[in-house]
Amino acid sequence: MQHTSHIELSRSALKTNISFIKNMLGETTFSSVVKGNAYGHGVSHFCPLLYENGIRHFSVFSANEALDVFNALPKDISIMIMGHIDNDQIEWAIKNGIEFYVFEEDRLQKAIETARKLKIPALIHLEIETGMNRSGFSIRKLKYLLKILEENKAYLQLMGICSHLAGAESITNYKRIKDQYERFTKVQKGLREVDWLNIKYHLACSAASIQYPKTRMDLARIGILQYGFFPSNEVLVQYLTKNKSHENPLKRVISWKTTVMDVKEVKAGEFVGYGTSFFTSAKSKIALIPVGYSHGFSRSLSNHGKVLIRGQRFDVVGTVNMNMMAVDITQAESIEKGEEVVLIGKQGDLDISVSSFSDYSNLLNYELLTRLPAYITRKIIQ
Ligand SMILES: *Cc1c(COP(=O)(O)O)cnc(C)c1O
Repeated sequence: MQHTSHIELSRSALKTNISFIKNMLGETTFSSVVKGNAYGHGVSHFCPLLYENGIRHFSVFSANEALDVFNALPKDISIMIMGHIDNDQIEWAIKNGIEFYVFEEDRLQKAIETARKLKIPALIHLEIETGMNRSGFSIRKLKYLLKILEENKAYLQLMGICSHLAGAESITNYKRIKDQYERFTKVQKGLREVDWLNIKYHLACSAASIQYPKTRMDLARIGILQYGFFPSNEVLVQYLTKNKSHENPLKRVISWKTTVMDVKEVKAGEFVGYGTSFFTSAKSKIALIPVGYSHGFSRSLSNHGKVLIRGQRFDVVGTVNMNMMAVDITQAESIEKGEEVVLIGKQGDLDISVSSFSDYSNLLNYELLTRLPAYITRKIIQ
C-alpha cells in the first residue's frame, strides 16, 4: 500500500554526478559506496541506476548490505565489504566472490579455513592502521601477515591494501591526514619488492579525492559525491576556488514529497499540537502533514523546519510528532487537502536542500539521508 510520503531519484542528476566523479578520478577505479541503504536512497533502486552508468565496483559496510547489492544487480560486478562480516557469513562471501576487509587475525584465520574447505580463494583486502585508530592491523604486523598470506596463496587472494582517513573534509585535520598518507605510502614503498603482490592500494573517500588528489591511488571509495553532495561546505568552497567556478558541479539526486493531510483554522491565542511550544498570536491556518520523526523528519526540526507548498516556503510549527507535523500556512489562504508538499527538493523556483534542512537540525547530510526509512516508496524520475 502507498506510504504517506515518497522519494524520487533523478536519473539525470545521477548521470551528472557520475561523470563529474569519473572525470576527476581518471584511471583510478571508482568504487561506489552504497552502505546505509545507499545513503538512504535505497539500494534496490539506486544500484541499478549506477550500473546503467557503467559502475561495476561497490563498497558496503556489512555482509547483509553486500547481499542487498548482490540481489539488486547482474553478477558482473565486484562487491567489497569494508566493515562487518560474521565468521559464519564468510562462506557465503567466498562462494559468491564477495571481497572483504581483514583487519584482525580471527577473521584472517577463518577466511583461510573456509577457503580451504570450499577450495575457492577468499578475496581479501588488508586494512592497516595509519592513524584513525578505528579498525586496521598495526603496520608492525605486516611482515608477519604477508608470510601467512604467501603460505596460503592458494586460499587467499590479496586484492588490496587499504586504510581510511580521519576527517579529510576539514582543513583542521590537515596534519593528521598528512601523517596518515605518509605512513601509508611508506608501506606501499616497502612492498614494491614483493613480487607476488598484484594489488590495489586504496585510501581515499570523497573528501580526500578532492582535497588530496594524491590519495586516489588505484581505487577511490566514493560515497556522498555521487548523491550530489559535497562532504562539507569547506570542501565545496575549496573546490570552487581551485577551479575558479561559482557553480556547484553536482546535482541532488533525491527529492522527498508528501501531500497535505488536512487544513484547519485555529483561533488567536491557542497552542498547536503537544505542549506549549507554539502559540498562535493571530487567527491562523494550519496544514497537517503526514510525516513525522518515525519517517526520518527529525524531531529537532520542531518549530525550525521548512516545507514547500505551492512554490512557497512555510514553517513547521509546534513539535514534530511521530507520524505528522503542523505547518503554518496562514499566509496562503487557499491551500487545500491533497496538495503536494516538498520536504526535500524543488517546487517552483524554491528549493529545500538536505544540507539547509540539516543546518536547522544540526545534522550532517550523511546522517539525515541515512535516516530515511527503507519502506518509503522510491520512484525513478528523469
Ligand atoms: C563511508 C566510507 C567511505 C565513503 O565516504 P564519503 O565521504 O561518503 O565519500 C569511504 N571509505 C570508507 C571506509 C567508508 O566507511
